[in-house]
Amino acid sequence: MPDYILEEIKDLNCEVLVIGSGAGGATVGYELSKAGYDVLMLEEGQSVPAEKVPYTLSESFLKMWRYGGMTLAKGNTPVAYAEGCCVGGSTEINSAIFQRPPEELISKWAEIYSINDFSPSHLSPLYDQAASLVNASRTTGQLGAHSEILRRAGELRNWEVKPLDRGHKNCVGTNHCSIGCPTGAKQSMSNSVLRKFIEHGGRLISNCRVEKVIRSEMLVRGARAQVTSVEGQNQIITVYAKHIFVCGGATQTPILLLKSGFNHGIGKGFRLHPTMRVIAEFDETIDAQKSRLPLYAITEFSPDYRIGGSVSSLPTYGMFLAEDWGARSHMLPSFANMTMYYVMARGTGLGNVAKIPFSKHAAVKYQLSLEDWNNIEVGLQNLAISLFESGARKIQPSINGMKAWHSIDEMITAISYGLPRKKCNLMTIHMFSSIRIGENPKLSAANSFGKIWGMKNLYVADASLIPESPAVNPQASVMALALRVAKNFVQKEKSKHSDEPFN
Ligand SMILES: Cc1cc2nc3c(=O)[nH]c(=O)nc-3n(C[C@H](O)[C@H](O)[C@H](O)COP(=O)(O)OP(=O)(O)OC[C@H]3O[C@@H](n4cnc5c(N)ncnc54)[C@H](O)[C@@H]3O)c2cc1C
Ligand code: SF4
Repeated sequence: MPDYILEEIKDLNCEVLVIGSGAGGATVGYELSKAGYDVLMLEEGQSVPAEKVPYTLSESFLKMWRYGGMTLAKGNTPVAYAEGCCVGGSTEINSAIFQRPPEELISKWAEIYSINDFSPSHLSPLYDQAASLVNASRTTGQLGAHSEILRRAGELRNWEVKPLDRGHKNCVGTNHCSIGCPTGAKQSMSNSVLRKFIEHGGRLISNCRVEKVIRSEMLVRGARAQVTSVEGQNQIITVYAKHIFVCGGATQTPILLLKSGFNHGIGKGFRLHPTMRVIAEFDETIDAQKSRLPLYAITEFSPDYRIGGSVSSLPTYGMFLAEDWGARSHMLPSFANMTMYYVMARGTGLGNVAKIPFSKHAAVKYQLSLEDWNNIEVGLQNLAISLFESGARKIQPSINGMKAWHSIDEMITAISYGLPRKKCNLMTIHMFSSIRIGENPKLSAANSFGKIWGMKNLYVADASLIPESPAVNPQASVMALALRVAKNFVQKEKSKHSDEPFN
């Protein structure tokens, strides 16, 4: 992926402006450039091709993660969240797991929010196209002890365990996904869809943050953006466009729209998957730091919660242990015997994204529901029981002040009065639902196909559109919904022009 920084950028014109190059932006840009539109994409972050992928996580935090990975949703218990900020967005630092949400959730959302043409059968071909764009497929060969322990843990309990598809081509298992893929095997946007976008004539400018969308009554005219040169100098440019698609992700899209004067429903309905991690220690050597993250998930309790495996590496162990260093640092020398697993609740609580005056940061809030807490608590118990039965000698949950458990009895005693909620370190890498779609303006910020209410040429196409927590990894849904927005746009524009009389 070449670097698309332009040496000298003047004010620009395009037919379609796409803001953000992640799962949503890349996909919508690709579909529209393929349909013959002149598309310009602006991306705040830099381009990090495979040969320039950092070696360490700390370097990756600075180059590829938004705000160095230091982002927090406030609420009854804070939830640390993460998103990418580079060409390709979060897909450059994600694990590329590709999952479709349960059909019953899709049907439920269509009904609650009155979303047109939003049934499993409408969406299925879009998920198929998204899968083919990133080559979603099984990983063959040895998956490693890290994966096998989770599969065994579920199967011993007779729970449903499913293998996970990933967007990859010949992954060699460097366990580097969250730092950036050094081999180009991960079919992140920069290794897949953005290449096709460029092949179809799409233009992309990196290091370019859009500060404001320019509005004139029911039309948007363009956007003002700040481009940073390779030498670090900033320049303000204006891009004029006939149509704009905002694809900055579930926290940044609402911020940009709010700052540009759009208010109706923006940022409301925000959801995430609250997640609690544990480190499990075994007698046997696992060397999880040398293999891919677990490619199985325990899906028995889906959609309420899912049990899965986290990226396990020295830096991720280090960060986990540093949460309560005094009590946990002694575990580090046993890293070869450790693995990290998680319980991820569906996320039925509610949040919102708001602007902070005079700041580019977002005020992100999420209140866990009682159901969220119940799912995390029951899920944690089930995870611990299954791991102990599979041979774990010790389990350390991500709860400050809580000593590691050495048996099922110890775990049950330790949380017999419930989880100490204020001491739980929750995190998430899945955020959505901040621009809800549907035909009822009281419940939504955009119509069924992502067009912002009251506007004629302003659309959203990213994770913000997923109506509620999907209970599975969201990238597939982001791509499917972006394709849906783009295809509808093309169809509507075609029918508009075919109605126009010839002069
Ligand atoms: C560590 C991690 C692991 C994950 N693992 C998985 C997984 O295995 N499977 C899965 O399905 N999902 C996973 N996810 C989630 C998935 O990657 C996201 O849901 C998905 O990428 C969201 O797509 P998006 O287009 O909404 O946003 P993003 O992909 O985050 O892209 C948004 C882009 O817009 C840019 N942008 C924002 N504001 C502006 C602006 N004002 N001007 C210009 N550019 C802007 C951002 O810099 C960013 O590059 C993971 C996420 C993370 C962080
Ligand atoms: S495990 Fe390594 S080779 Fe495979 S996709 Fe991730 S970073 Fe790339």
